[in-house]
Amino acid sequence: MIYILMGPPGSGKGTVALKIKEKYGYSVMSIGDILRNEIDKGTMLGKRADRFVSAGELVPDDIVNFLVEDGLNQLRPDETVFLDGYPRTLNQAENLKEISKTQPVVFYLDIDKAILLDRLSKRKRDDDSEETIEQRFKTYHKKTLPLLDYYRKNGTVIKVNEETSKKAFQVIEKYF
Ligand code: AMP
Repeated sequence: MIYILMGPPGSGKGTVALKIKEKYGYSVMSIGDILRNEIDKGTMLGKRADRFVSAGELVPDDIVNFLVEDGLNQLRPDETVFLDGYPRTLNQAENLKEISKTQPVVFYLDIDKAILLDRLSKRKRDDDSEETIEQRFKTYHKKTLPLLDYYRKNGTVIKVNEETSKKAFQVIEKYF
C-alpha cells in the first residue's frame, strides 16, 4: 500500500512521517531528505539538484522519479510505504502510477498559511529564507495543488486539517 503525505511547506509532513515510522515501523521515503543528503555528500545528482532546492524550486522530474523508483525497488513488493513530499507534479504522479500500479491514499495536510509561516520562521534549514519560502509556496500552488484533483480521480484524498503535527498524526493513524 502506498500512502502519500501532501501539504504545503511547513505543514508537518516530515514530522508526521517520523511519528508513523516510530510507532508502526512503516517505511518512509522523504525525497527532500534524500536530496539534502545527496547535496551534502556532493554527488553528481546532488550537484544537479542543489540550485533548485536552494531556490525553492522543484528538482527536475527525471531526478526525483529516478530516486523514488530506486527506493521503491528496495522494498518488498507489498510493503506499506509513506511518501513524504512525492509526487509534487502531475508527471511524478503518472510515473508513480506506472511503477507501483496501485491507487494510493493521499493525506492532504491543509493548514492555515499564517501557521505555516510561523513554523517556517522558527525552522533552521538552508532553504528556509524568506525569499525561498515564498517561492516554495508559489511552486506548491502551481505544480502540486492540481494533484488533489488528480488523486480524487485516481486514488483517495483524505483532508487533514489540524493545527499541530501531533493531532494530524492522531487523525491519520485511524486510517491504517
Ligand atoms: P521538502 O523537504 O519536502 O520541503 O523538500 C525540500 C526541497 O526539495 C523542495 O523545495 C524541492 O526543491 C525539493 N524536492 C523535494 N521533493 C521534491 C519532489 N517530489 N519533486 C521535486 N523537487 C522536490
